[in-house]
This record gives sequence, structure tokens and C-alpha cells, in this order.
Amino acid sequence: MMPYLILTAALLIALYFIFRKRAPGKAMVTVAEEAKDKNLLLQHVAYYKNLDDTGRLKFEGLLQDFLQDVRIEGIEIEIEPLDRLLVASSAVIPVFGFDHWKYKNLSSVLLYPDTFNKDFQFEGGDRNIMGMVGTGYMNGQMILSRSALRQGFSPQAGKENTAIHEFVHLLDKSDGATDGIPENLMPHQYIIPWVKMIHQEISRIEHGKSDINPYAVTNEAEFFAVVSEYFFEKPNQFKEKHPELYQVLTVTFSQEPADS
Ligand SMILES: [Zn+2]
Repeated sequence: MMPYLILTAALLIALYFIFRKRAPGKAMVTVAEEAKDKNLLLQHVAYYKNLDDTGRLKFEGLLQDFLQDVRIEGIEIEIEPLDRLLVASSAVIPVFGFDHWKYKNLSSVLLYPDTFNKDFQFEGGDRNIMGMVGTGYMNGQMILSRSALRQGFSPQAGKENTAIHEFVHLLDKSDGATDGIPENLMPHQYIIPWVKMIHQEISRIEHGKSDINPYAVTNEAEFFAVVSEYFFEKPNQFKEKHPELYQVLTVTFSQEPADS
């Protein structure tokens, strides 16, 4: 009996030293990785940069939660740390104002090197899709073009951000219908005025009297996704030019991204 006890004790002591030794090393790597990630975020994600310290900490935590839940996969490309951070940032930005939000029905995000067509071909002609939320056999998946993802976060992006657009579609879809009316985010009394605003603005766009991307006239769902991009990418300009739309979106997303 005695030898076993000694053996067990020796094993426990050995294990203690193995893990005690490993722990600080691992922590150091994490700290270095964290610092790298923070730098990438500061360089590429203006939304993060504009947050105060508390906000940044919260943002980082939400990024981590998202990346634990959702797989990010490259299709014929090697995923870089920046890609993971940009996908996760696009997911976190629209839900940053909510206490707790988990994207249900999303297990992975597939990154294609460039734009693709309806058959997910990304080479050759007839490919103009920059991102999409999968339906049918693609349910639970989002596809993004990496060039569109990166372009969305570049200073030249203007009011467009493909990845935010796709995550807003997912939020819209969370009530069962991707219809431009996010019923579980928008207070009930806002819904009828919102639908009216959509149609008024669509008419302005059609008459060349709006600075909103004309793709918004496609339907109500695209309208909601397109104005949300504008809301998060150029909040000050959006508030100034579209105060009513801005107000509804601040309520819908529980946040006010404009400076004042
Ligand atoms: Zn869309």
C-alpha cells in the first residue's frame, strides 16, 4: 500500500510543479497576444478607439465571448488575427448597447478571399456578393468576403461596412423574419412610424434626394441593414442628415454613437 501512496504523492508533486511552471508562461503569452490584439483594434476599429477604458474592456470581453461561440474559417485563405478581430467587432458593435446578446443560429463565419456569386464561386465573372447570411442548407453560417470585411473598417469605407450589414440582418432575423422590422429590439410604438419612415426615405432615394446607399431601396430588410451601417460608420453625419432615422436607431440599438 505504502509504495502506491508515495507514488501518488510524487505524482501530485510533479503535477504541481508542471502546472505551476506552465501557468506564468501561458499568462505571459496571453498578455502579449492581448496587447497585440488591442493594438490591432486601436488601429483598425474606430468604434473601439472612441470608447473610454471601461467601454474598451467591455468590448474586449464581448469579442472573446463571440470568438468562443463562433468558428471563423477561411476558404482558401489563411485567417489572420486581424480577420478574427474584425469579424468579432462587426458582431459586437450592433449589440454593444444590450445587456446580453448571443447570436443564436450562428455557428460559423466563412471568409472568402473576395466577392462571390450565388453559387459561392469567388473566381471569374458574375460575382458581386460581399456577404450573406446563410439560409437553407447554409443555415447557421455567414459568408463574408475578406476584402469587403477589411474595406469596411478602412478609413476610406465611408458609410459602408459589409460585415456590420450582415450582422444587422441576423439581428433582424432573430424574431423569425428578416423584414427590416426588428420586433424584439424596437419598442412596439415605433414600428408603424418606422415603416412610414422607411417608405418616405426610399422615395427620396429613388428621386435622388438622399445620400443613403441606393441599395437600400431593394426592400425593407436591406433598408434597415444599409442605414445601420451608416449609423455605426458615420454617426455624426447620419444624425445631422437623418435625425428621425437616427433617433429610432438609437432606441433600437440602445446606443448613441454620435458625439453629441
Ligand atoms: Zn443585405
